[in-house]
Amino acid sequence: MPFDKLFEAQLDALKAEGNYRYFADLTRKCGQHPRAKNHHDGGVRDVTVWCSNDYLGMGQHPDVVAAMARTAMECGTGAGGTRNISGTQHQHLELEQELADLHGKDAALVFTSGYVSNWAALSTLGARLPNAVILSDSLNHASMIEGIRHSRAQKVIWKHNDPEDLDRKLAALPANATRIVAFESVYSMDGDIAPIREIVEVAEKHGAMTYLDEVHAVGMYGPRGGGVAEQEGLMDRVTLIEGTLGKAFGVMGGYITGSAALCDFIRSFASGFIFTTALPPAVAAAATTSIRHLKVSQTERALQRRQVERLRARLDAEGIPHEHNPSHIIPVMVKDPVKTRMLSDYLMDEFGIYVQPINYPTVPKGTERLRFTPGPRHTDADIDHLVMALKVLWKQCAIARKTA
Ligand SMILES: *Cc1c(COP(=O)(O)O)cnc(C)c1O
Repeated sequence: MPFDKLFEAQLDALKAEGNYRYFADLTRKCGQHPRAKNHHDGGVRDVTVWCSNDYLGMGQHPDVVAAMARTAMECGTGAGGTRNISGTQHQHLELEQELADLHGKDAALVFTSGYVSNWAALSTLGARLPNAVILSDSLNHASMIEGIRHSRAQKVIWKHNDPEDLDRKLAALPANATRIVAFESVYSMDGDIAPIREIVEVAEKHGAMTYLDEVHAVGMYGPRGGGVAEQEGLMDRVTLIEGTLGKAFGVMGGYITGSAALCDFIRSFASGFIFTTALPPAVAAAATTSIRHLKVSQTERALQRRQVERLRARLDAEGIPHEHNPSHIIPVMVKDPVKTRMLSDYLMDEFGIYVQPINYPTVPKGTERLRFTPGPRHTDADIDHLVMALKVLWKQCAIARKTA
């Protein structure tokens, strides 16, 4: 094909640096999370998934599955249109009400994914607010970065999780700027958590709006799963909270919550909200069921915390270096793309452990890692097996240990 050489040249470069991506071919089996089938070399093998963002296994919760199946039987598959042209189903409105309540806000707006919600909301805010300046944490997710870029608003990057740097940068802006501070709560690759209170206080001091991505926190933090801002009692001081239905809630879709005027503004002007087919009603119903469950059930969160602590303690006991952070994410730094891929392959081939290598551009080059996300359904035996496997590999591959 005439253009394939152009494509292949760039793919070859990726392969040469070890950053080419190979997808694991999986089949999840309902009721057996985190177990899955891995299709490999024409055969099928059982694996335990250690890198799922279905953090609490809610994607296989019987009530959630039943809600999706029942709604599909009752209403069919697709929504049948954009939200404006016949696509708004009662399930969307119920879901938005549930989300607004979860975050203690007046209103919410659902998108087809968390990526789209960030992209659409930030690009609309940045493009339409007078003299908008978006102050973006240096480690913000690609969806926020793309939204900010698309808005063409002035962008100021502040030092990751550093309210003092944010303070300086806010102070340097002209008086007529509409300031928007965009950041995350749990950063998913390092597992660190933003000092939300300090950031909100700095933003308030300068009259800035706050935009908080709680994608890796909703469902898991706070007494009702409202995220870190709920846990810290700060939800009412954050202007806009954004989240996903695809991670701890186990379904699919994204959302923003905020004042009625804010949500109406995004609803009315965001291209990424207006010109796309609404989520299937069955997906919305499943998400609502999952949110409702996690608003009252502490079981999944408590068990997740227990297994996260257990894995950390076992890694420490074996001297396997991992990043210490206050979240549910356990990054094991390998710092080399080829070695990370090799470890991941060995774990899968020899031990039935699936953990995807995390490489550039998801993380900076030289910080390649394995990222483990223990959940309530990983057993103590799963953890022992994982730690035993890592111990063997660390020895074989001569990777530095913490105590060595
Ligand atoms: C995954 C992710 C998103 C996107 O959410 P999806 O629902 O998967 O599109 C947004 N922000 C952050 C920080 C994420 O990690």
